[in-house]
Formats: sequence, structure tokens, C-alpha cells
Amino acid sequence: MIVILGAGESGVGAALLAKKLGLSVFVSDQGIIRSQYKAELIEYDIDFEEGSHEIAEQLQPDILIKSPGIPEESEIVKLYKQNGINAISEIEFAYSYCKGIIIGITGSNGKTTTTNLCYHILNENGLHVSKCGNVGYSFARAVASSDFKYYVLELSSFQLDGIINFKPHIGILLNITADHLDRYQYNMELYIQSKFKITKNQTADDHLIVYNEDENIQKYLSEHPIQAKIISIHADLNDTGKLYQGNNLVADISTSRLQGRHNAINICSAAQVALLCGLSQVQVQAALDSFVNDPHRLEWLGSIHGVDYINDSKATNVDSVFWALDAIHKPLVWVAGGQDKGNDYSVLLPLVSKKVKALICLGLDNTKLIKTFSGIVPIIKDTQSMSVAIAEAAQIASAGDAILLSPACASFDLFKNYEDRGNQFKEGFKLLKIKNI
Ligand code: ADP
Repeated sequence: MIVILGAGESGVGAALLAKKLGLSVFVSDQGIIRSQYKAELIEYDIDFEEGSHEIAEQLQPDILIKSPGIPEESEIVKLYKQNGINAISEIEFAYSYCKGIIIGITGSNGKTTTTNLCYHILNENGLHVSKCGNVGYSFARAVASSDFKYYVLELSSFQLDGIINFKPHIGILLNITADHLDRYQYNMELYIQSKFKITKNQTADDHLIVYNEDENIQKYLSEHPIQAKIISIHADLNDTGKLYQGNNLVADISTSRLQGRHNAINICSAAQVALLCGLSQVQVQAALDSFVNDPHRLEWLGSIHGVDYINDSKATNVDSVFWALDAIHKPLVWVAGGQDKGNDYSVLLPLVSKKVKALICLGLDNTKLIKTFSGIVPIIKDTQSMSVAIAEAAQIASAGDAILLSPACASFDLFKNYEDRGNQFKEGFKLLKIKNI
């Protein structure tokens, strides 16, 4: 029998797959299970408990599946370990029953954009493809729902940490920059190793697409032999917006909604996948032109009196802000701040001193931002709510400027999550727009 700890998207996805395979399964969640998931468990006649692991503690499963949110050090996981039962992850479980071609995408930034784009290109061109993993549906749910030919799978480092035999046929490693270090004992090496697990089980029949200019990636590759065939992305973006890999035109991004050098890397990576799947450059271009990304990622909202408003609330680390500042060619009123993750802002200093005319700090405690950018940015404001931040920004900005929300921090000090923060920014923009009609 299978015991699944945690009844969120990955736990319930694993339960649905187990049920479909005719295996006996029990789901245990220490908290209260969300109603949509409870309804599914009931509908598919899957036994479960919530509010404690009381029943699970008595069971002796053949397979134990742990949801990523449950720590290795939790009492229940330790108890199973004492009985010689080690947990596997939902990704590993789904992998053992997946018959399709897996495209696994990881990196510190750009995973969702690249996953969405890859999926869009393959799907628009009529391939039978699922988008799953860290974005939307779990991998196990996707495997349970149908035998897709392709699975475009977004993978976080935590999901990669839980793999044993899992391997993608095509892996993408976009970049490795400091993020989530609190979960890796503040040790960058451990975080890098975790990201490289994407290729750990790959063989010479598989491909690994990597961004060649990322220092951490370059260094690791020079020290560790990799089995997979490596495709290095250069993403040389010239002024015409044409992207070349060597002499081959990959895409023209001047007609795409995805802008900036960082998106050139994402586009190149997704295009390489499409070519490996047998599509042509023309097919890639057509799909790229119709692609609309998820909100909160350099999302252009519109302009008021010649001032652009750009929502990049998903920029929760310094590197993503770097690329946002790099991509926008206008004087900036930059709205930043929130819960600091041990940020080192020094990499931003050249871009900030060149482009940012005002910094609106938006966080419970803005001391670090104010200290770092005093003397570099002429105007700095200290705010604790989105409405005040937008009002301050609108007052400072003049025609030809852009107001950019790109926080470099987590949102949990003042907002429910990054979506809430971005939505409040969008609401503020809409209100201003109405007032200014
Ligand atoms: P993830 O899923 O890895 O968090 P997203 O696609 O959601 O990535 O983008 C998160 C943030 O990172 C956004 O601010 C986006 O503009 C930025 N970003 C997107 N692609 C890249 C990239 N290749 N390198 C750096 N930053 C990126």
C-alpha cells in the first residue's frame, strides 16, 4: 500500500495516479485539507485523514510519498524512517509511471515563463503536450489524466532534491543565482548541486540546455562531467531583435510580448526544445508571436500622462530585478522592498545609478534599502502600503518615465503573496487611470 503525506496539489495528484493504477492508497494531512482536494478524494473513493497523522502512524506502507512542504525532520517522517521506510517525492513516483517525453525546466528565475512558452509552442503546433509540475497541475495528476506524448515540467530545487531515478529527456537549466539560500544552510554550493540534479540521471541519449554565460553554471560544468548532450544558449540579442544560435536564426523577438535580454535566454531555450521535438523555426516564430505570459512578470499595464506602469511583482530576488532594470530603456521610478532574503544589492548599483530617478521603498522595514541606495538615488521614499507607494510614485514620475514594481523581496510582510502585491499595484493603476480620464 501507498501512504501519501500532505493533501495539496502534489499529494492529491499522487493519490489520483495511485488510484488509477489500482494501488491501495491512504492520504494523511496534519492540517485541514482544502475543500476542492477533499472533494476529489471523496469522489475517487480515496481514504484519508486530516488534522493529524494518527492513522498513518499505524500503517506500514510499501511506498511512502511525501509532499514537498513536509520537512524531512517532521515527527511522522522520522517515525517511518525508524521503521526503515524512506519517503519518495511525487515527482519520482509519477516518473516511474510516465511513458511520455519529459522536458524538465529549472533555474533560479524564468522557470514559469519558459515552461509556459515551451508548452505554448508545442501545443500551438498540434503536439500532444501537458504543462505541469511547479506550475498549475502536479506531474502525477498530469500522468494520471492522460498518456501525453510530451510533459513540460517546471521543477523547483526542492522538487529536484526529492528525486532518485527521475530524469528529463530534455532538461533546461536557465541560471543559478542566490535565492532560497535559507533552505540550503546559506550555502550556495548546496543550492548549485540541487539545481544540477536535473541532469544527474541523464544519459548520452538526453539533452541538457544551459545558459552558457551564467558563472555558476559554467564553473560547475568545467568541474563535473555531464552525460547528456549539452546545448549551450548564447542569446545574443542584437538591435534588430533577432536571436541567433551560431549562424542559425532562432527567433525574432521584436514582434513578441516578451522583452529584454533575460527573455531572450528563455526564448532561445524553449526554441531549442521545439527544434528537438521536430518543429521548424517558422513554427516557433508563429507561436512566439501569439504568446502571452502569466501576469506579474514585467507586465506592462498601460500609461497615464505618458508614464508607463510595469508590474514585475514576481521579481522576488535581486537577479530578476537586475534583468528588469536592464530591459527597460526609460528613466525609472522603482518600487521595491518587502521581506529581505539576505539580499546583496551591489550588483544593481551601476544600473540603478544610471536609470533610477526615485526609489519608493515598500516594506514593513525599509532600513536596508534606504541605507544601500542613499546618495545613489536622488529621491527615496519610505512607504508601508501600496496605495501610498503608487501615489508617491505617480507624483514624482513625468512623461517619458516608467514606474516599475520590481521588489527584489518576498511579499509576506505586507501582502498575502506576490500575486496580491501585483494585483494591488494593478488596482492602484486602474484607479489612477479613472481619476485621470
Ligand atoms: P520563476 O518561475 O523561476 O520564478 P518567472 O518566469 O515566474 O520565473 O519569472 C520570475 C521573475 O524573474 C520575473 O520578474 C521575470 O521577469 C524574471 N525572469 C524571467 N526570466 C528570467 C531569466 N532568464 N533570468 C532572470 N530573470 C528572469
